[in-house]
Amino acid sequence: MPVAEIIAIGTELLLGEIQDTNTKHLARTLRDKGIDIFRATLVGDNSARIANLIREAASRSDIILTTGGLGPTVDDPTREAAALAMGVPAEFNPDLWQQVEARFQRMGRLPTENNRRQAFLPHGALAIENPVGTAPAFYGTVGQALLICLPGVPREMEFLLENAVLPLLEERFNLNETIRALVLHCAGVGESQVDEWIGDLEASHNPTVGLLAHPGIVDIRITAKATSLAEADQMIAATAEKIRERVGNAIFGQDADTLESVTAALLQAHHLSLNLAAEDQLRPLAERLSKAGASPLVIFPTGPLDFDSCVASMRQGLPNNSNAVGLCVATTQLAPEKRNLLKMAMITHRAVYTDSRQYAGPEGNYPVWAANFTLNFLRLKLQKYILDKE
Ligand code: ATP
Repeated sequence: MPVAEIIAIGTELLLGEIQDTNTKHLARTLRDKGIDIFRATLVGDNSARIANLIREAASRSDIILTTGGLGPTVDDPTREAAALAMGVPAEFNPDLWQQVEARFQRMGRLPTENNRRQAFLPHGALAIENPVGTAPAFYGTVGQALLICLPGVPREMEFLLENAVLPLLEERFNLNETIRALVLHCAGVGESQVDEWIGDLEASHNPTVGLLAHPGIVDIRITAKATSLAEADQMIAATAEKIRERVGNAIFGQDADTLESVTAALLQAHHLSLNLAAEDQLRPLAERLSKAGASPLVIFPTGPLDFDSCVASMRQGLPNNSNAVGLCVATTQLAPEKRNLLKMAMITHRAVYTDSRQYAGPEGNYPVWAANFTLNFLRLKLQKYILDKE
């Protein structure tokens, strides 16, 4: 399988003025075609630096894709950089100039003298006609590697990728592999615990298994490479089954599932309404549940929440056979390290379920962690309540 690198060109990308969505799009598209991406780099509008980067990439990869820097102005350096990397001069290409002129004509405009720059290509490079923009793209070779230079405007880049680059890659590299991925989401357990359970699977090469930790959530990504989608899916399913056996109910969903979507679905499926009493910092929790369709009735006290009296009053307020579920959440600070202790209670007319957990992560992540931890608590206790009822 070929190995590719992506180089996104543009000083405004480096300055953080625009987001590099092109790399993301290129990476996903190439991944789906079974092409391995080993590196992606951002570089400013400097032809010498870009040329160095292209040469470096060519020494270790089969395909180099660049985006950006193909416009008609002096700070559009990609043509010059490509020529430098290929070790050839840039030369005027009359056919390309005709294409640029024709495109301007269709727009009812005349090309400027600057646009002539866009008709220059490195000697030996071939033009990729750009019917959706003015900057023609091109491809050539640097050593053994195929260099493909695409425009920066996402709509143009995506069009040329789909209609010109993928057919070219399919022909050159006889692409017949595909890559599929599945993400399993876990909560209530730490990354190191998950690592302990499935560490041996993380060492496998195909499918590969990797972990990604967020506050209160650990994602397990399974990626398989195969000659057909069905085969890749089968490989993923076998690994996912092993993981599910080991990680069990800490897995709350997969791919687009979120803690709030699975919890809201539980509430809805069992016709339960939710009353939430929490401190102000858990407001996002209520918003997330509402967005997922659960619309809790929310009570936010102005000061710190007295956990025990909140639980007692919620318990009293629930009539027998009520379909309402109360959720009471409070944070207390533990001396001497001032660690946050999250206390949670789920209250039904039959029972009160409680849990607490000390938080040990960075202070700024506490609200997100607390929201995730509470949602997971609610999910687990709802499951228990529903089971007990049946
Ligand atoms: P054109 O001549 O059509 O403008 P170009 O190759 O010169 O093409 P750039 O001048 O580098 O493209 O970028 C044009 C615009 O495209 C940028 O202002 C930005 O809005 C967008 N763009 C460039 N690179 C990226 C990127 N990596 N991700 C997302 N958008 C990008």
